[in-house]
Parts: sequence; C-alpha cells; structure tokens
Amino acid sequence: MVLDIQSIREQFPILDRKVFGKPLIYLDNTATTQTPRPVVDAITDMYFNHKANVHRGVHTLSQEATALLEETREAVAQFIGADRKEDIIFTRGTTESINLVAASYGQLLEEGDEIILSAMEHHSNIVPWQLIAVRKGLKINVIPMNDRCELDMDAYRKLFTPKTKIVAVTHVSNVLGTINPVKEIIAEAHRHGAVALIDGAQAIAHMPVNVREIDADFYVFSSHKMYGPTGVGVLYGKEAILEKMPPYQGGGEMIKKVSFQKTVFAGLPFKFEAGTPDFVGIAAFAKAIAFIKEAGIEAIGAHEEALLNYVTPKLLEIPGLKIYGNAPHKSAVISFLIGESHPYDTGMLLDKLGIAVRTGHHCAQPLMDILGITGTVRASFAIYNTVGECDALVAATRRVASMLG
Ligand code: PMP
Repeated sequence: MVLDIQSIREQFPILDRKVFGKPLIYLDNTATTQTPRPVVDAITDMYFNHKANVHRGVHTLSQEATALLEETREAVAQFIGADRKEDIIFTRGTTESINLVAASYGQLLEEGDEIILSAMEHHSNIVPWQLIAVRKGLKINVIPMNDRCELDMDAYRKLFTPKTKIVAVTHVSNVLGTINPVKEIIAEAHRHGAVALIDGAQAIAHMPVNVREIDADFYVFSSHKMYGPTGVGVLYGKEAILEKMPPYQGGGEMIKKVSFQKTVFAGLPFKFEAGTPDFVGIAAFAKAIAFIKEAGIEAIGAHEEALLNYVTPKLLEIPGLKIYGNAPHKSAVISFLIGESHPYDTGMLLDKLGIAVRTGHHCAQPLMDILGITGTVRASFAIYNTVGECDALVAATRRVASMLG
C-alpha cells in the first residue's frame, strides 16, 4: 500500500510551523516523533470527560478511565503479538522499563554472573545494568561491531560463559540505524540458558514487531517515539519470568493486602505498576497505535526505506560528508559529519534553514568512543517526511558544507 503522505501530514498541525521563517522540516524523529490530532484529541477528551483515578473507584468516571487504560493494554498486546495483556506493563518509557528489569531481575542474579550488552547501546541500556552490576558484583561483556557497524555475531557467540544470565541489545541503533538480527541474538541467549531483553525504542514505529515470533523475554519501548504521548512506556515480559521477579517499586495499586507485618503483592501486571499511572497518556496512546495500524506498519517502513535509499547517495555526493553506519539492513537514521567541522555548527546552521536535526553523542558515548568521534549530525525519518524534504536537506547540507569550508 502506498501512503497518502499529504493527508497524513494534515493530521500533524506542528508540520505547518515555520522556523526562522522557513517551513519546518522535522528530521529528529529518533528523539521523538510528532503527535497526530487524534492522540491530542484523546488527551483533551480524557481531561474534559473521563478524568478519575483508575482501578480504585466504583463511580462511573473511574470505571470509564480504567476501561480506557485497559483497552490500551489490550491494543499494545495485540500490536506486538503478546499472548496476554497482563504481560504488558506500563512504565514512563523505555528507560524506566530497562531500569525495572535491571533492578528487579538483577536481584535474582548472583555475584560473578554476566550480562552481555552491545557496542551500539543507548545509555539507557547500559547504565541501569552498571548500577546493578556494582550492587551485585556482576560482569558486563560487550558485543563488538564490524566495519559496517553491524554486530559481530561470531564474537557474540564467543562471549557466553556458564555465568551469562542476561543479554540486552537494541533492536535498531538510534545512531547508526543498524537493524540487529534480534531473533538470532535471542535464540543464542536461550541456547545458553540466558534471558534476552530487546530495546525496541527505535524499531516499534518503523517495522513489524512480534515478540512471540522473535521469542523475546523482555521487549521495551516508548510511546512518544511512536506518535503517542510523552511519559508512557511499555515493558513486555514473559509471564513465567515476570512472575519470578520481585516488585520494582512499592506503593498503591501493586498490592493485594498490606499490614505492618506482611504485604502480599498484586498479580501481573499490577505488581509492577505502583502508584497512579499516567492514565491520560496511556488512554491516548491507544490512538497512536490505531494511527500506525491504519497506515500499516509495513507501509510506514517501506516509505521510510524509500526516503533513506533516495537521500543517502545524494548526501554522499557532498564533498567531505561521511555517513556513520552503512549496514545493508538499516532503518531511516542517518548519522553524518562534514569534514572536520563540529556537528553542533552543522546542526545550528541547518536549524536556521528550518531543518531540525539532532547533534551530539545521542546518548551513546561508548559507541562514539569506538567510532573515534565525539558526536554526529543525525537526520531521522518518519511517516510524514517527504522526498521534497529530503531534497531540502541535501541542498541545505550542501550549503552548510560550503559555509563551513
Ligand atoms: N533506547 C534507544 C535505542 C533510544 O533511542 C532511546 C531514546 N533516544 C531510549 C532507549 C530511551 O528512550 P526514553 O528516553 O523514551 O526512555
């Protein structure tokens, strides 16, 4: 199916904005995607018509709010092919989902146990593991990359020892765009009796994800990177594993019975959902999933891939421009540098031309160290980007390159 990009763009009022008098060209979709009208309308509708705390009230509003939240849980489960909605835990985002697993599953580990991460992880899939590693005396091993910035799978297989308990790897790199062979990575972890967490933050809005098909033990992502509201994230986990894990935070909602002598925790998913969740955001999140489903995730992926294939050779024609991340299997994320110039200067000049790109280390400093650079300029694409915007990016980057000499 070919997408009608113009009518899709009409659902995103922000795309009509001007920046420095130029039409906004938003190419920072890896950091966060923009939000279509139905999602914002759902937030307003929650505040104006259904706002009441969830899971605790007999009154109508509370029941409505609870139903909307639970409908989203069902929609998420269905969207990622999970068996049961109870295995979907709402968090504040990918970061909190990983912290939850590291802190909770980490308690089941013993001194000397090992964790495998990859060279291309976001800080949020590194630091939570370091925190638990220090507390429990665990060792972290890292999968290296080849020249095309793909994970070295032979090296990966050699990292396993009888002590390896967890593999935590990103599905898609937020810097390089590399799409990792997660099914193979998970299967290898399982062969060694380890569990696997996949950071799906950069995959979920760009390609079909089926947690059962890849056999992920944990799969995590953020609503705000998939056209949904901020402040909402998902942790999917396999029931048997989640059942074994201790709670992450204590408080209301996550208990069955509390006394000063003993507390009995609630079942899944509530055991991991202490306190009032962002029920407004969660309710509206269902509209983001509906938006993606209506367009079709395959069609979205194909559109973004076409933009990537169109713009990459054109950018490479610019003298001195180098792209970091040339995996044949990559998503529409382009990290680049122009000669010796600082990414910040490029980003600032592009901004003056109305083009929003991100500059810096992209929360992946270990990856920057491996690449021998301090940062890149990153253009990342989403459903609403157009060939015309790609042409504008190329023209503006060419102009910036000549200004920066
Ligand atoms: N992992 C990856 C691969 C990411 O790109 C990001 C966001 N840049 C995160 C994790 C963290 O997501 P959040 O800030 O929404 O928790």
